[in-house]
Amino acid sequence: MKLDYLSFVRSGPGKFIAKKTGLPEPADLPRFKDRPQPILGPVLVLGNSQGTEDIANQLLAWDGDVRRHGDELDKIGSIIVVLDDIVEPGQTGPIIAELPAAFKKMKKGGRVITVSRTPLEDDPAVNAARAGLEGFIRTLAKEARYGTTANGILVDDDVELTSSSVIGALRFLLTAKSAFITGQTLRVSAEGGGIPTLWEQHLSGRVALVTGAARGIGAAIARTLHRDGAKVIILDVPAAGSALTDLANEIGAIPLQMDITADNAGERIVEELAKRDLKVNVFVHNAGITRDKYYVNMSEDRWNSVIDVNIAAQLRINNALLASDRIGDQFRLVSLASTSGVAGNAGQANYAYSKSAVMGMVAALGPILAERGGTANAVAPGFIETEMTGKIPAVQREVFRRSNSLKQGGLPLDVAETVSFLGSLPAGGYVGQTLRVCGQNLVGR
Ligand code: NAD
Repeated sequence: MKLDYLSFVRSGPGKFIAKKTGLPEPADLPRFKDRPQPILGPVLVLGNSQGTEDIANQLLAWDGDVRRHGDELDKIGSIIVVLDDIVEPGQTGPIIAELPAAFKKMKKGGRVITVSRTPLEDDPAVNAARAGLEGFIRTLAKEARYGTTANGILVDDDVELTSSSVIGALRFLLTAKSAFITGQTLRVSAEGGGIPTLWEQHLSGRVALVTGAARGIGAAIARTLHRDGAKVIILDVPAAGSALTDLANEIGAIPLQMDITADNAGERIVEELAKRDLKVNVFVHNAGITRDKYYVNMSEDRWNSVIDVNIAAQLRINNALLASDRIGDQFRLVSLASTSGVAGNAGQANYAYSKSAVMGMVAALGPILAERGGTANAVAPGFIETEMTGKIPAVQREVFRRSNSLKQGGLPLDVAETVSFLGSLPAGGYVGQTLRVCGQNLVGR
């Protein structure tokens, strides 16, 4: 029997004790295989702007059961609040007035999404009206129950609400693929690279390379990118060779046994691509290690090995790739950060440095790649159930597991779905961001 908190609290005695003691009861989160529909309906669309109409029309095109009023509904699957036109905080009133009653009627695993303009204005009232929504959505995420999530899409003023990056974000956040993302905002700062012909095979015809793919999150990413239509190249150290071969056989991937910290790793990747006459469209820097110690006991060796794998190797590989002719069109680079890098974590000074560094890397690389029609973004997982987190002492592990609004750990698949989304064509409009996949981990922003 699995003796973790989730199994315990869902068992008969566990449920009873949890109720009596006030321990959090985690909801069952439906994933994409449980709920493949693009929208959990009915979907209530609130707002008065032209943008609201545009978004309602988009949902109708996806066969959504779209409603403009919630009063007559017993249950609501999704709510989209479009506030792209507000210019002072008082204007939120009429729309928010309808929301509490609707929020009470959410189905299990529901979705609340705000669509508004990025707070980058010089006008204090306009900026205040826009910025306030961030605190609002983060709070809804904390109050939501039964696996409902709440997230915001922030659209820059020069980007239409009908642009592919807004539509892509909406689609991803509405589906069960975003089950472990809540309390987050995603900024759309460019139009994006278009709408895929088939949403469920959105990486069809694209080549993806995933480092550290032999197990854990990397293996889930490789499987998911393959499911979504990509031809996948999987890379890991020679010591993980047999797991890599098994996965390659399972998904028809090309295995590359290589240590990414080798000085010439980037050049070797370029050579392997050239040998097969391939260009890479989606590059996923997933390989990562931890060497935890309190900072006072941190050796140079522990520090350097983490920095080398988690960030220095990525920078060297990027340089070799960018200097080569092996980068395909609509290039998407996705790197794995961590909530430890967002908030810091005792015992992980080296790891937290390296993961903050990843966020800094994509922030600078995003605009550079945008000039070449590509982009770079990061995913910051919170507590994800893998071998890496399996090594955390049991009690501490349980605390980490439930320290988020969804009261449970995420799955490697949750991170993989997000990587696939950031590797998609519409993702061209997200430039240098870090999207957290953490169930709204209580630490950090
Ligand atoms: P894992 O330890 O299970 O797998 C990491 C993989 O990377 C392994 O297959 C390993 O062989 C490979 N790797 C390590 N060093 C390498 C090198 N020098 N060259 C090539 N391959 C190498 O880890 P995971 O939990 O699946 O984590 C994957 C990524 O997600 C890491 O970057 C990690 O920091 C990040 N992350 C994980 C969590 C979590 O909760 N598990 C949370 C936040 C971030």
